[in-house]
This record gives sequence, C-alpha cells and structure tokens, in this order.
Amino acid sequence: MKPDLLQELHGILGDKGILTGADVHEGYYTDARGTGDVKPQAVLRPASTEEMSQVLAACHAAFQPVVLQGGLTGLVVGARPQEGEIAISLERMNRVESIDTDAGTITVQAGTPLQVVQEAADAHDMVYPLDLGARGSASIGGNLSTNAGGNRVIRYGMTRDLTLGLEAVLADGTVVNSLNGYIKNNTGYDLKQLFIGSEGTLGLITRATLRLYPKPKTQVVAFCAADSFDAVRELMAHMRAGLGADLSAFEVIWSKTYDVILSDVPGIRAPVPTGHAFYILIEMMGSDPISDKGKFEACLAQALEGGMIADAVLSRSNAEIDAFWDVRDGMAHAMGNQRPATGFDISLSVADMENIEEELLTRLQAALGPSRLFIGGHLADGNLHLVAKAITDGPQPSDAIQDIVYGWVGEVGGSISAEHGIGTLKRAHLGQSRSPAEIALMRTLKHAMDPRNILNPGRVIAWSTNDPDQT
Ligand SMILES: Cc1cc2nc3c(=O)[nH]c(=O)nc-3n(C[C@H](O)[C@H](O)[C@H](O)COP(=O)(O)OP(=O)(O)OC[C@H]3O[C@@H](n4cnc5c(N)ncnc54)[C@H](O)[C@@H]3O)c2cc1C
Repeated sequence: MKPDLLQELHGILGDKGILTGADVHEGYYTDARGTGDVKPQAVLRPASTEEMSQVLAACHAAFQPVVLQGGLTGLVVGARPQEGEIAISLERMNRVESIDTDAGTITVQAGTPLQVVQEAADAHDMVYPLDLGARGSASIGGNLSTNAGGNRVIRYGMTRDLTLGLEAVLADGTVVNSLNGYIKNNTGYDLKQLFIGSEGTLGLITRATLRLYPKPKTQVVAFCAADSFDAVRELMAHMRAGLGADLSAFEVIWSKTYDVILSDVPGIRAPVPTGHAFYILIEMMGSDPISDKGKFEACLAQALEGGMIADAVLSRSNAEIDAFWDVRDGMAHAMGNQRPATGFDISLSVADMENIEEELLTRLQAALGPSRLFIGGHLADGNLHLVAKAITDGPQPSDAIQDIVYGWVGEVGGSISAEHGIGTLKRAHLGQSRSPAEIALMRTLKHAMDPRNILNPGRVIAWSTNDPDQT
C-alpha cells in the first residue's frame, strides 16, 4: 500500500477507524474455514456510510484492492485477505436503526449481527426469520452478500426474499441508496439484486431494510423415520398439502449420517431407533394455539396409516423441540468430525436425490477405492449438504472428489452452491453450474461496476478470461 494512501485513510477514519501492525490480530485473517497466510497491511473500520464512501473513493483513486469483512463466518473463503489487499471491516456499523411494526420492516446497518436483528424483532413480538448456526457472529451484510439460506427457507425464502431495500457504496465511492421498505416498487431495474448474492464483488452493502413477520404462536416438531426415498417424497407432498404455509421445516438425514450424529455428537439422544433408511425432522409454525397441534397430529397419523412413516415421535415440550433440532444441527458437527474430508452444499431436484448415495459412492469407489459419503439437508428446498472422503492413510484426494461430485451435479443440472456462495473456494467449478454466457455477463457487470478490480478481487469470477481457473 502506498504510504500517502495510509495517511489519507487515517485522515478520513481517525485513530479508532484504522488498525495496523500488531493491532491487526488473527481474527482479521481467520474465517470459518481456518486462518489464512496473508495478514492485511491495514484494517479499515469506518463507522458511517459517508466514511465508507470516502475510503472507497481513496482506494479507487490509488488502485488499492480491498476485501470486505462482516462476521467472517462465510464457508467459501471470500472474506479472508489475499496478497496486497487491505481489509474493510463492517464491525463499527452495527446498529439497528429503526423498526416499523405497521409495515413489518427493520432497518439496520450492515455490520449488525444476525442475532441482534432477531432479538430486536422479537422484542416487538415479530420475527426476522433468517436463522443459521453462525447467528451470533454472521452479519446482515454478509447474509445479504451471500444470499444466506438456513433452516426456514421453505416458509420464508432466502435472504433475497427478506430484503426490501438496501444502501451500497460502489467501488469509486458513489453511494447508491435503494433503501425503501416497499413490497411493490416496479420503477425500473431492481438494483438491490446486483448486491445480493454477489459476495461483495459489485459493491459494499452499508444498510438494509428487511422484512419482519408476525411471531408464530405455535411450534410443533416431529422426528420420523422412513424406509425408502419414495416414502420420504410422498411424506413431503402430504405434509405440504396438509399444513400449507405453516410447514416451516422438512429436513432429511440419510441413515449413515444419523449413525455418526448419534455416535459423535456429545449429549445427543436418538429420538427414534436406528435401522431405517431416512430420518426426517418436520416442523410446523402456526398462529392458532387451539387447533394447530391437532392438525399436525392428524396429518402425521395419516402418514403413518399410509405407510409413509415407519416410526415417529412428536414434541411435547420446548425442551423436546430443542432436542430434536439438536439432532438435526448435530449434522454439521458430525460431518466436521469426518475431517480430513471434502464438503459440499448442492442444489438438485428431489427426483435426482433418490439415487445420490448409490450414484456418487459408485463413482468415488471406482476412482478412489473405499470411500465414505454422508448426506443430509433441507430436502424441501432441494438443498443437500454432503461430506465425502476416501479411506486412505495418505492425503485426501479432494480435487478428484470435487471433480466427481461436481461433475455429477453438472450432469443432472444441479447447482454447486445452494446457499454458501462461490468465494475463492468454488470459483474453478462455477462453469459446472453456470453457462459461458452467464459467466460472461457476470464479468461484464464486474468490469462496468468495478473497472479497477479493487472490490473483493478474484472472488466468484476471474477478472480475465485468460485466467486458467475460469475461462
Ligand atoms: C456454523 C455455521 C453455520 C452456517 N449455516 C449456514 C446456513 O445454514 N445457511 C447459509 O446460507 N450459510 C450458513 N453459514 C455460512 C455463513 O454464516 C453465511 O454465509 C453468512 O451469511 C456470512 O456472514 P458473515 O457476516 O460472516 O460474512 P463474511 O464471512 O464476513 O463474508 C462473506 C462474504 O460476504 C462479503 N461481505 C461481507 N460483508 C459485506 C458487506 N457489507 N457488503 C458486501 N460484501 C460483504 C465478504 O467479502 C465475503 O465475500 C454457516 C456458517 C457457519 C460457521
């Protein structure tokens, strides 16, 4: 970094707003995947949109690349600094600005942790329905820029569906304010969509207006077992038809994954015995305390009678609801325990899920010898998480595993990233989910909006078609 740029940035941000030397601790180059090799030369901590704008204008003028950082919980290595970059942290833009209960909206600064937003909504008897395991650290800006999903997408949608307006700063410091709270607003291009899901490559999100919903009055959860994929599919259609919009989660765990959750996650008790092919968590959130539970029970009883379920247990208390969810959430822990292994977050049609275990294991074993595969996820969203590993004493052949899994996902027209994004980790595989014309259009947008390639360079797409990673 040029010394006069550092001086200029210091002039904009003051002592509190810029960290250098020993003050740049490991937290600024460590994300959910681990600690990076590159310590940024400086961390900028602007406290307002105005400061963000001035900082980016200065970096743009100096051709200085920057990496944007929220809570650093991202899973695709997008926020970790690379050589020559300085970091811009949103950590000082962390306030809830206003709540409008009439409109059902909340306006927050982008560095606000997700959990703070959830709690602010709860205090007004409303719910901000995005929820994920990293809620305490993940920021709203990070959620928006990765279009985060989570557990209740089936009912409320992804972050994109929860965002009414936002404010962003472009690479040259221009502030684009699309911060309105309207559900209907057909006034030309929907510019906020450029920033949602583009992982900080097209602009820096500074504020957002998000949708709130009335807090559900009832919550019932069942933990079920089924003996065939056909039964699972039939069960999903049945619960959807019976519960309508009140169906808030339909999560499926493949049997080998259930076994390792039970054996590896401390404090977990099996809600239903092992020995079945699939385990399903079904949740209903409704608004009628008198009839909701009966409606849910009746649906489940019909499923039992119809042979869709081999076993089932219904929650009788909040503690049991938490215990059932602990089993589902234990999947991340159990899959993490398989390390060294290769993880995936894919979307595909429910029809293609039927043979996924057999199909992928056959391919993995043919290429790599004995292998293991663990599967589970948000079936109703068409989103599965997988962990694959070769049984070997040597290093894991993760490139070969990725080629096999992504190759198959490409063949069935699936997506190589359902909810975690692309970052740097999946960039080389983007072409397995997006066509050359789509990638070319992404590059056109990048070149137009960030002509000096200073915003999160190298994330999502390569700058040039000459890059061997992505042409
Ligand atoms: C335990 C655990 C569970 C998780 N569960 C889920 C899940 O269920 N569903 C899901 O979708 N994800 C999940 N994630 C992934 C992660 O939490 C999300 O991607 C989250 O949205 C990232 O937010 P963050 O603030 O940590 O972003 P960061 O990690 O800091 O950044 C992520 C990306 O966004 C960019 N960025 C950050 N802030 C801004 C901004 N203000 N403007 C523009 N770009 C910005 C960064 O440069 C980077 O490219 C999980 C992660 C963990 C560790």
